[in-house]
Amino acid sequence: LEYAAPGVADLRPYQPGKPLAELERELGIRDAIKLASNENPLGPSPLALAAIRDALPDLALYPEGGAPELRARLAQMHDLDPRQFIFGNGSDQVIEMAVRAFAGPGTEVIVSQYAFAAYAIAAQASGATVRTAPARNYGHDLDAMTALLSERTRLVFIANPNNPTGTQLSGAALETFIDSVPAHALVVLDEAYLELMDDDNYPDGRQWLGRFSNLLVTRTFSKAYGLAGLRCGYGMGHPDLIAVLERVRQPFNINSLAQVAAHAALLDTRHLEATRVNNRQERQVLAEGLDKFGLTILPPAGNFTAFAVPGGGQSVYVALLQRGVIVRPLSPYGMPDHLRVSVGLPVENQRFLKMLGEVL
Ligand code: PMP
Repeated sequence: LEYAAPGVADLRPYQPGKPLAELERELGIRDAIKLASNENPLGPSPLALAAIRDALPDLALYPEGGAPELRARLAQMHDLDPRQFIFGNGSDQVIEMAVRAFAGPGTEVIVSQYAFAAYAIAAQASGATVRTAPARNYGHDLDAMTALLSERTRLVFIANPNNPTGTQLSGAALETFIDSVPAHALVVLDEAYLELMDDDNYPDGRQWLGRFSNLLVTRTFSKAYGLAGLRCGYGMGHPDLIAVLERVRQPFNINSLAQVAAHAALLDTRHLEATRVNNRQERQVLAEGLDKFGLTILPPAGNFTAFAVPGGGQSVYVALLQRGVIVRPLSPYGMPDHLRVSVGLPVENQRFLKMLGEVL
């Protein structure tokens, strides 16, 4: 182990939400709820499930790595060229491919304090130097990030909205920032939650793809599309940028079931709409419920909201676990007072609020 690469030797791995089955085994119960990983409480689209059943007989065959049907559908939907897409085993893998292709020893990668943890983990593992810009009100401070740009910068990560803090950036601020980043650095704009933002005019990074060839916009099927277990995400960018990322993509990284399910999920606009309606209403219920307890909440965004329990983040997390409710402690983000709760079904959110009331 002492021979692990320098970035890996002192790496603190990503801490996922506690799995539901694990808690149920520990407590000997069968009705725990998990509101810890921003998953879709409505489950996958029935069309996706049907597509998976239809694809099962072909499981002995390798998948087509380029996901041609999914690619064609997305290109049409986003009004882009099919060569502008790259697919990953989750958008996490798209992030990792960007790091593999552009970062490494001797380079610098800029992230914001409190940004989604996968960026810094992938960058550090590559041997790059991670430069963390201090946050402003828990969100990305674009001026602080600009101040860190250097000749050695190869990647800049931005999540809009950011997970876990829910903070949001305006289109104007983003555009000015991307414009200020030199061509030797790639901006990765992570839009994992875009489909779950209620404002139909929420800034959409696609609009800048024609202008900036050093911009990669990432999306996922794990959130609004309810396919987190299948692992499928994608990046959109200039065809030349995508061609570079393709060099480091594993040949069969998107499995065949994920490809057909993602394709079917895109066609199921009813399921997406039902997801958005539940999310909009129930996120409000959660925010109001937390507010009634007098808790300070960070901006609700996507399908989650973070809130503070001064001095009691960890103990409230544990007490909720004991009551069969899994939320996400934000201590790995350096926010030990904060917890994050994902939007569930009405009955799940009520149970969470009831148990939280007991615990508090
Ligand atoms: N980006 C953000 C901001 C996220 O919150 C997540 C999921 N937690 C991801 C990327 C990765 O999602 P996936 O790999 O499932 O596509």
